[in-house]
Amino acid sequence: MELIILGSSGAIPVKERNLPAIALKSKTHPEIILFDCGEDTQRQFIEAGLKFNKPLKIFISHFHGDHIIGLPGLLFRFSLIDRTTPLMIFGPRNLFFYLYFHRITLGLHAGYPLTIVEIDHENQELIHFEGLDSEEPIKKEKIVNNIVFETKWYMMKYALVDHSVPTYAYAFLEKHRLGKFNPEKAKELGIPQGRIWKTLHEGNQVEYDGKIIDPVKEGIVGPKRPGRKITYSGDTMPCQSLIELGKDSDLLIHEATYAKNLAEVAHEKKHSTSIDAANSAIKMNAKQLLLTHISSRYQDDAQLLLAEAKEIYPNTLLARDLLRIAID
Ligand SMILES: [Zn+2]
Ligand SMILES: [Zn+2]
Repeated sequence: MELIILGSSGAIPVKERNLPAIALKSKTHPEIILFDCGEDTQRQFIEAGLKFNKPLKIFISHFHGDHIIGLPGLLFRFSLIDRTTPLMIFGPRNLFFYLYFHRITLGLHAGYPLTIVEIDHENQELIHFEGLDSEEPIKKEKIVNNIVFETKWYMMKYALVDHSVPTYAYAFLEKHRLGKFNPEKAKELGIPQGRIWKTLHEGNQVEYDGKIIDPVKEGIVGPKRPGRKITYSGDTMPCQSLIELGKDSDLLIHEATYAKNLAEVAHEKKHSTSIDAANSAIKMNAKQLLLTHISSRYQDDAQLLLAEAKEIYPNTLLARDLLRIAID
């Protein structure tokens, strides 16, 4: 899996940093997952080589302009290219209305399957809307175990964090992964490449050349591997709900809007410092930390934030636009 930073600035864009948007891509699944959609995310899609007609899930953390103004632009782009693949967008209450407003005023339309899911934390409900033509939700369902979406591949959980408006953090939890495939072993046993390899990789026995072949016993496939966990903080000051959501993450993507000497300002504005981000990574036992949402005041010395966090949590990276991080 690969994480691609599309925007790493907070509040306003600067020369080297666009507004928040982070994409997650897999080698084995066509779907793209996007956390937040800051202004001009569509241009960053092009820069990053991401395709506009892939199945896409977008998870919006909150309704501050820097995290959501790129969403209508991206949807206009989808209309222009006659997108056909499904798009699902998740976020706080009023998400549907925000896009519906663009439908009424600017004629935004979706000729592809579009589902908008508002996460109603107060009532613990997911409110589903289909397309942009009807204001009526198509269904409401109870939230169970903080899960907002689930497929065979992963589940997405959320938590309400501590910011100046209702804000969600999200945790991507991959389900168990298939064991490692050993092509040499398969060739050694004379099994030809093709569909049969896929069946074996999925751990299933096959009959080949009159023999039953068990892929695990034969060493063609290794044991199933645990899935990966990636947590995205949204904008927040330190809070317990984020620690619980992100427990044992392989990667914690955490805002670090300020350096440690501005902790008071950070907390007043319900944001975090580099040190807050590092402490959260320690508390949740994360394996790696990525600092993002960097204030424009650090456009020339963002390394300061990295150095501060590294002092207490060495396995820290600093986001920059178009940085790609492999998550193994
Ligand atoms: Zn922000
Ligand atoms: Zn914010």
